[in-house]
Amino acid sequence: MVKKYKTNKRKHTSGTKKEQTKRIKYIFVLSVLLIFSVYLFAIIFNHFISGKKNNVQATVNSENIEIIRDYIEPNEYSRPQKKLKKVKGVVVHYTANPGSDAEANRDYFNNLKYANAGKDRPVYASSHYVIGLKGQIIQCIPLNEIAYASNDRNKDTISIECCHEDNTGRFNEDTYNSLVHLTACLCEEYNLKKDDIIRHYDVTGKDCPRYYVKHEKKWNSFKDDVFRYMENNKSD
Ligand SMILES: [Zn+2]
Repeated sequence: MVKKYKTNKRKHTSGTKKEQTKRIKYIFVLSVLLIFSVYLFAIIFNHFISGKKNNVQATVNSENIEIIRDYIEPNEYSRPQKKLKKVKGVVVHYTANPGSDAEANRDYFNNLKYANAGKDRPVYASSHYVIGLKGQIIQCIPLNEIAYASNDRNKDTISIECCHEDNTGRFNEDTYNSLVHLTACLCEEYNLKKDDIIRHYDVTGKDCPRYYVKHEKKWNSFKDDVFRYMENNKSD
């Protein structure tokens, strides 16, 4: 009886070893699958979140355009909350402040309510978007409100301020690419034509955006780039 018991036990033990190997394999495969699932979930989740944070209702682009929404607080000098009823154009500007980045320009607009305190001639200024030196896009004002950027055309245009590195006012590659991308999205969204993309200069004769006032050809090729971009990224 004892012998039999021992034999059985040995058999049982060797069975357990096989089972253990199987179990280890099983656990290994399961772990790999689990890690893969978590990874996949993270990608999908991240895509979903950034998709929510982004979007200018951008049907034109296959990749989502990333826009940081950091609206300035309502105030009479930069965000009067007047309705922008119809969008008939996009106006491009330069900050005229070499080396300053998007965040600083956004904060400047936001702080006008303090900076203007006690001034006889307060400054009224803002922009729907500011594009930074690394190509980051900050939206300062919702698209159904006017900005104080383009004088007589505030009432029917979206404004984009671009940062620049030096006095020439030339946009660096990152800033330029984001400008093309954003302008294309806005043209698609509001069904705008090439001639609806204008410079501040075209409204008032102001030297803004300087480099593209001085270099008419560069300005025209920018507009071509926008429409080429739209063509290449049509979603249908
Ligand atoms: Zn301007």
